[in-house]
Amino acid sequence: MFVLEKIEAAAAERKGQPAVISGEKEISYRELWEKSDALSVYLEEVLGEDKTPVVVYGHKDPMMLVCFMACVKSGRAYCPVDVSMPPERVGDIAETVGNELLLGVEIPESVPENIRVLSPEDMEKAINARLGERFPESKWVKPEDTFYIIFTSGSTGKPKGVQISAEALTRFTDWSVTLGGSPEEKKSAVFLNQAPFSFDLSVMDVYTSLTSGGTLYCVEKEIQKDMGKLMETLGRGNINYWVSTPSFADMCLSDRSFNEELISDLKAFLFCGEKLTKTTAARLMERFPKARIVNTYGPTESTVAVTGTEITGEMIEAGEELPIGYAKAGTDIEIDGETGEIIIVGDTVSKGYFKDSGKTAKVFGRKADGRAYYRTGDQGYLKDGMLYYHGRLDLQVKLHGYRIELGDIENNIRELEGVEAAAVLPKYQEGKVRHLTAFVVTSDGTVFDGDSRARLAAAKAVKSGLKERLPEYMVPKRVVFMENLPMTINGKTDRKKLEALV
Ligand code: AMP
Repeated sequence: MFVLEKIEAAAAERKGQPAVISGEKEISYRELWEKSDALSVYLEEVLGEDKTPVVVYGHKDPMMLVCFMACVKSGRAYCPVDVSMPPERVGDIAETVGNELLLGVEIPESVPENIRVLSPEDMEKAINARLGERFPESKWVKPEDTFYIIFTSGSTGKPKGVQISAEALTRFTDWSVTLGGSPEEKKSAVFLNQAPFSFDLSVMDVYTSLTSGGTLYCVEKEIQKDMGKLMETLGRGNINYWVSTPSFADMCLSDRSFNEELISDLKAFLFCGEKLTKTTAARLMERFPKARIVNTYGPTESTVAVTGTEITGEMIEAGEELPIGYAKAGTDIEIDGETGEIIIVGDTVSKGYFKDSGKTAKVFGRKADGRAYYRTGDQGYLKDGMLYYHGRLDLQVKLHGYRIELGDIENNIRELEGVEAAAVLPKYQEGKVRHLTAFVVTSDGTVFDGDSRARLAAAKAVKSGLKERLPEYMVPKRVVFMENLPMTINGKTDRKKLEALV
């Protein structure tokens, strides 16, 4: 069944039961379905035949889900943008997406002049005036149409928009509902939402929950910053399925009260997005002996995840790193014989980057039999069908679960006033990036020798300049000034030499 039909069926069955809970706010399946119908009627009135995707801006308000549903019901893709995105990037994304209307569940600080923001108040009015109107199913996005666009860090300094079709999302949810327990067990279950909706990890909790009539339990970013409140919020959620990055679980593990007593109905941890270390898995097994731990792997470009496996005690004891799983039905994993690159072939591969055929052609293609493939840039190997991850072929890293192109940060540093050159290097521990260091060459080559005050001030200026352009998680923790960046004989930045300095 098509993803929207699955949600419709869940809404018909679950009626007044909560579809989404976020802080004090809650929305039932009936409200989600009816309000999104009303909002799609409004979108059709305002935008007519123009099917340009729509940016939805905000954080974890249940209205975000109403907007997503309204867009796709009206035949338009949605593009979620979280409040953690700095205004400049929000503007860039809105401009690239190109719709004159932006759905503002919160109001962005600034948007390009040609874009009108539908404020929360006006949205409420638009919905209330049309409540009870049904939107015709014949106008919903079709399986081959784009369902959502998620922007992710691009090496040139501008984010790239990954387009995921309704068909790909449907095929993903067919599989995700089997992770960590049967589809039957997922019915009416509570799913933790940790990641903002602008990260594709959230697609795992949002759509596995909505298509199986579950309740999405969102933990807002302010709560995530306060350990006491976080534990309290997790404790009263009756969470059954935990969906997060391993880094988030690590953070929770630092609190002793994070254990089986706190979340007694937990059935499984579903992880994706970055390396799951043996330390993290072993600690979780100790604290939650009854819960399963599932490691999944995949990029935004192939709808969240394409491989998965339950982690066992034997895997932790084994000599190798933890595996990232078996390919789901409909997906084949191939390994490039020369480079060891993981190539994903199958039914959840994206159509490509939005309005960027150049970048699309570099990594996406079709096999002779017509199936779509994506070259991940990840290295890995297969052992009896089980996939193992072995790092990247390029300068993309994961920091606390966030996907970052080091080139994105470097290009943005170079655009700051008074900067001549820059290189950003990760610091690794147990195979995971712990923080980033920026090596910066100023226009006049000063390294502020002996003047620690001036050096600190200059480092601060680099960081605050970056904060205006990049999400906070992309701002390097350390800034080191150099007279020149070391060069290889080919005239490229010698990253090996810099590595030794982080
Ligand atoms: P994203 O598009 O943000 O989901 O990031 C995708 C990238 O995260 C992949 O290409 C991998 O480099 C990395 N990744 C995702 N899942 C895992 C995993 N289970 N183990 C190791 N790396 C992962």
